[in-house]
Amino acid sequence: MLDTLSLDLLEKAVKVLDKYSLCDHCLGRLFARVGYGLENYERGQAIKNTIFLLTYYTLQKTTDESLREKLLDIIRKLARTGHEPSLRFLREKLNQDIQVEKCYICEDKYFNNIDNIVQNILETISSAGYEFKTYYVGTSISREVVKRELDLSVEFGIDTAESIKRELNRLIGKKIKERLPPDKVFSRQDADIEIVVNMETGEVKLEVKPLYILTRYRKIFRGVSQVQLRLNVITSLQKVLNEKLATELEAAEAIVHASGREDTDVRMLGDGRPLVIAFVRPRKRPSLETIRELFLNKFDDEPVELVDSVTKTQHATIVKLKQESSRHTKIYRAIVLLDQDVDEEKLRSLEQYFRNRQITQYTPRRIKRKPLKKRVRMVYELRATKIAPRLIELLIKCQGGLYVKELITGDEGRTTPSIADTLGINAEPIELDVLDVLETRS
Ligand SMILES: [Zn+2]
Repeated sequence: MLDTLSLDLLEKAVKVLDKYSLCDHCLGRLFARVGYGLENYERGQAIKNTIFLLTYYTLQKTTDESLREKLLDIIRKLARTGHEPSLRFLREKLNQDIQVEKCYICEDKYFNNIDNIVQNILETISSAGYEFKTYYVGTSISREVVKRELDLSVEFGIDTAESIKRELNRLIGKKIKERLPPDKVFSRQDADIEIVVNMETGEVKLEVKPLYILTRYRKIFRGVSQVQLRLNVITSLQKVLNEKLATELEAAEAIVHASGREDTDVRMLGDGRPLVIAFVRPRKRPSLETIRELFLNKFDDEPVELVDSVTKTQHATIVKLKQESSRHTKIYRAIVLLDQDVDEEKLRSLEQYFRNRQITQYTPRRIKRKPLKKRVRMVYELRATKIAPRLIELLIKCQGGLYVKELITGDEGRTTPSIADTLGINAEPIELDVLDVLETRS
């Protein structure tokens, strides 16, 4: 029977213990991927006990003095790790007192301290007073410990180990879970709060993750910017969101990440523009239902409002929103003043000309800070309606990122073709609205 078992695990363990004193955790962790349903300290204990039993058994059967000395040395090596049966055997049967040594890897610094750390974490969470549903526990430990552990695995060719950080995170995480209410969920990927424990000092830090909300905004009045507050701006979307919502969630601030942006003097109508609001360090994390109510009933007298698609989301959505911005199709309405009257026929041929027309633009003159860059965007469709002599309304369906004002004026030749050039007269937009931002080109 026994010859079917592979005993090199024990052989490796004996070799390791011959050179290094290891606690049950650190010995067991070298063989973490062996066995099932065991914690590392149970593995470590089991290995030490097995070595002790086999050595003791052999010792009883032999009369060879040099072999006896070798076997006793194995028991002394076990004893110096603090293995109680080995210590007692040597003390009571052979009158040998063995000095217990600190664990070579962890120096006995961490595992005895776990209950204190757990208590500390729970107190930190409750005194900080942040609402959360998901949490994650991470630890930081000294680099020397990590290095000693890695070097030891390499030295003995051990490929079944797990890292000490992983073990500590799991043990602390387990105990925290036992003591928190059952509706709190451990989550590595999507944690509302991240608890980071410095295992050297016992210090506990709470990192509160932002609350990300995906929605869309409408801008009903002109003169509102997305983020920046300038002289000619009444307010900004970000300022309104801070005043109306960040205060409700008791967040440090609200940060706006939108999919593109319109000029300050342009309204954003229709179903609005996609937007992620990041609420930084919110003390409150209400249910989605409560958030919806809160968000939709707050904007009565404001020049901006949120539409009723409100969902919780992740940081990754911000990147996606920004990337998608130029793939969106936008519909603009422009009121344009012409310096000459035009007839219906001319407007029809204008519509004809701008059907699926590619527009080449260089950075507009009005954007002073940016370096000159070429941008190519599509106009898909144009509708022109005469409102009064020298006054027309344009409906423009185009690719996201097109400079629409410049499409109308031509920007002194920086945008070609343009409405002004095509009509052969000067054209000036006096009012511009985004009527819709369509998620995909249709
Ligand atoms: Zn140890």
